[in-house]
Amino acid sequence: MSLFAIDVMDEKPLNNDVLDLIENEAIESWSAHEILTWAVKKFGSRLTVSASFGAPEGMILVDMLHKIDPETRVFVLDTGRLHPATYDLIDRVRDRYGKNVEVVFPNSADVEAMVRSKGMNFFYESLESRKRCCQIRKVQPMRRHLAGFDAYVTGLRRDQNLNRADTKKIVIDSANGGLVKLNPLADWTHERVLEYVGEHTVPINRMHREGYPSVGCEPCTRAVGPGDDPRSGRWWWENDDTKECGLHVQEESEGSGI
Ligand code: SF4
Repeated sequence: MSLFAIDVMDEKPLNNDVLDLIENEAIESWSAHEILTWAVKKFGSRLTVSASFGAPEGMILVDMLHKIDPETRVFVLDTGRLHPATYDLIDRVRDRYGKNVEVVFPNSADVEAMVRSKGMNFFYESLESRKRCCQIRKVQPMRRHLAGFDAYVTGLRRDQNLNRADTKKIVIDSANGGLVKLNPLADWTHERVLEYVGEHTVPINRMHREGYPSVGCEPCTRAVGPGDDPRSGRWWWENDDTKECGLHVQEESEGSGI
């Protein structure tokens, strides 16, 4: 079976009020707090937060949702290649919010097969190789985990890069079985993110202070210089328009397998 095999998932049925919100775009004028409050009420324990622990946006969502409903679930994908600082932050969030962060691992047989046939750091070889690694370590585990939910929240923002410029605050994630995907920070600026972190003393990854505005896997992230594009340290050997891991890309043609 191909490593890129795609699980066939049934689309989840959607209520009319969710479809109305998507169609009339009323939610685009809602604040992040309003969207999260609605989502908690609407989806309850079938809602989760996707936080990378490598960017402040996910930590803001954890903080906001903790204040709305401390029981809201949060997950992080542990690719097996994260920075030690990211693991430290997961524990700090557990301590600060008393939250049982759901750590999601890739399928060990898939990782073993991949590294035995291709080597530990084969992802530098080509775009296809890099996406293959992201597929095994991130996309497939996320898909498995999300199968247990009706909706999830991400910290995507429009000004993070060109690929995210058209991010809507609510979409149907057809790559993940038709889940409702909420991006309540879509219209936030970087300055607003920093402001919230400061005002609410939100715990963030310590590597942000060491020149890493966006912290991904250790071998695929490097520090950036002052004034550089914040995401230029991620997969720095690639063109800007290929810099997604596949988690937030819908098109199968993109090559990420979804
Ligand atoms: Fe693999 Fe790098 Fe993608 Fe992490 S970011 S899953 S190490 S290719």
